[in-house]
Amino acid sequence: MLKGNFPVEKFGALPTPFYYYDTSLLRQTLDTVKAEAGRYGYQVHYAVKANANPRILQLIAQAGLGADCVSGGEVRAALQAGFPPSHIVYAGVGKADWEINLGLDEDIFCFNVESLAELEVIDQLAARKGKTARVALRINPDVDAHTHAKITTGRKENKFGINLGMLDGVLDELQQMAHVELIGIHCHVGSQITDMSVFRNLAIRVNEIQDELEQRGIRVQNLNFGGGLGIDYYHPNHLPIPAFDNYFAVFKQLLEQRPGQQIHFEPGRSIVAQCGSLISRVLYVKQGEIKQFAILDAGFTELIRPAMYDAYHRIENLTSEEPVELYDIVGPICESSDVFGKDVELNCARRGDLVALRSAGAYGEVMASQYNCRPLPPSYFSDDM
Ligand SMILES: *Cc1c(COP(=O)(O)O)cnc(C)c1O
Repeated sequence: MLKGNFPVEKFGALPTPFYYYDTSLLRQTLDTVKAEAGRYGYQVHYAVKANANPRILQLIAQAGLGADCVSGGEVRAALQAGFPPSHIVYAGVGKADWEINLGLDEDIFCFNVESLAELEVIDQLAARKGKTARVALRINPDVDAHTHAKITTGRKENKFGINLGMLDGVLDELQQMAHVELIGIHCHVGSQITDMSVFRNLAIRVNEIQDELEQRGIRVQNLNFGGGLGIDYYHPNHLPIPAFDNYFAVFKQLLEQRPGQQIHFEPGRSIVAQCGSLISRVLYVKQGEIKQFAILDAGFTELIRPAMYDAYHRIENLTSEEPVELYDIVGPICESSDVFGKDVELNCARRGDLVALRSAGAYGEVMASQYNCRPLPPSYFSDDM
């Protein structure tokens, strides 16, 4: 069984569970995304919600990417990590007043606005400060992302964005407002998208939206296509860097970019997922009547994706080369959903073996909870080992 590259002897001394980040893979991924986007002059804002570990954020800020935030807390985390305010965008269906005020005070690049009601509040709060807020309208383009229902965001029935049919009305209102300036349109249709036809449909839909806007005499300076590019959870060792070249090429080929227009993207998962693993120990191997269980010291408190999205994570036994057996791999939490995988092939497991749950750098550590009064997991970085 091909396994990832881990400093297993150094892990031996550390209490588990913990997150381990391969910082050199992160750097290579950042170099790749920058080069591939740079080819066309596209701008990349990292989606902070995928992983807000301060060290990871610093590395991404140092690489020169912008930040895409979905809360005031994320705006603060991005500023602390060194992202310049002029490279911070802020989306979210439920921005509280303090969060909008923070964005105004820090003079962030843009609010991605998700409803008329929110636009009115931004206009009022900006007026109070004597400022003008730069806004992009987040449009719900009704493009099916063909991904898991819990991570689809661009359909009519989703809570996100402004439905296309309502755009005209919102624009009418916007043109009456004195303290907001429309600088772009924004779309984000879902996550873990591996079918490039979704992005093709999105580019074509945005061309149509642009044509309609121009018929009203509106030309926006920025187009933002959100994130969503998927990764290969089944083969983290083969091609750990996603095909950013194919992804950006879709937009280069299909998008009718206007002269001087800036194109933005907000990848999260595709930047950080493969550089992170959750490292855990086998506490017990339990023989059931029809199943054999490997019970880990990590559970959905550390990695909730399998329980929440039925997500697959490749699991490797780092300390055994014995023949493979089938296990249900489970955590210690008192919930039946605390299962990382069923009938998983794993080198014969014994108490104390170290196990890696791969591709856990995105929506892993950042979603950890203290349920069952468990402590939050620490993180370690390959640079320090
Ligand atoms: C979650 C999110 C992203 C990032 O999505 P990924 O699938 O991790 O690339 C980008 N933009 C917005 C507005 C988001 O909510």
